[in-house]
Amino acid sequence: MATVMTVTGPIEADQLGFTLVHEHVYYGPEIETGDEWNKTGVRTVYDPELIYEQLMLYKNAGGVSLVEQTTGGLCGKDGRILLDQEPYQIKHAVAVKEMAERTGLNIIQGTGWYRVPFYEPYLYEITTNDLADELINDITVGLHGTDVKAGLLGEIGVEHPSWIWPVEERMLRAVARAHKETGVTIATHAVGGPVGLKQLDILMDEGVEPHRVIIGHVSLFHSHEYHAEIARRGAYMAFDTIKGGEWKFRNLQEMIHIEKALDAGLIDHVLLSQDNAMSGGGYEHISTTFKGYLKDRGITDEQYRRMTVDNPRRALTGEN
Ligand SMILES: [Zn+2]
Repeated sequence: MATVMTVTGPIEADQLGFTLVHEHVYYGPEIETGDEWNKTGVRTVYDPELIYEQLMLYKNAGGVSLVEQTTGGLCGKDGRILLDQEPYQIKHAVAVKEMAERTGLNIIQGTGWYRVPFYEPYLYEITTNDLADELINDITVGLHGTDVKAGLLGEIGVEHPSWIWPVEERMLRAVARAHKETGVTIATHAVGGPVGLKQLDILMDEGVEPHRVIIGHVSLFHSHEYHAEIARRGAYMAFDTIKGGEWKFRNLQEMIHIEKALDAGLIDHVLLSQDNAMSGGGYEHISTTFKGYLKDRGITDEQYRRMTVDNPRRALTGEN
């Protein structure tokens, strides 16, 4: 049985159970643009009691595991949650680990960098292999000087819907090399256009097998053909913006995309998540409300289980 690295140590893959593949526990960019790192105003939301309460709603609704994709540029400078006073100087990875211990949830932490407006200046200067070495260190030793190990490379973003900055290409190549060294799954952020296929092109050019890649936020580009092409190439389509609360109309769009993917026989490539961050309507949304929507539209329990238990396990381990 394959193992998956969580923030509290490795677990057997069959312990994953119901898994949300793209969430954030502590996260929160207040301003997305700005050239100098210290002026970007990236701040991480740090409210342990609120997060604990929200995560327990997920656990009580049947949630077992969650992938935390708050990468560089989103998790505070040097992984340190960015508020001036104590206790906000806590390292992001440590805060996530504490929450995993407190809730009993399996939390898999991602590493890498988000996308160009969030990059630190040194990322423009470092070599691809040195960058890969940093990522490998996050996976094999620990994140940001802690002993909390990353279990995923992601979310790895690109800024534009249809093309990729050279420095983002370098990031993707470094991620690919770190994957080949460690075997850890890659998850991307691609919005508003078919750029997920370009991410896949770069990763495959580096020798990554497509089934080790999760293309994120696919339904933010409303093209079934785009989704299907990701799956036909062998990668995973993450329908990961299924938010609760006021997002009901978006849920319907999301459902139509999922149905089309199932009708096309691509269920083995479908993943569901919410990308909860500062907004999102709760970690339990899919396992409560959205599950009901799916059922109303004729999605069977077996199909639901494959999308929320079997596929996340396969995606995180590389098992076929
Ligand atoms: Zn995200």
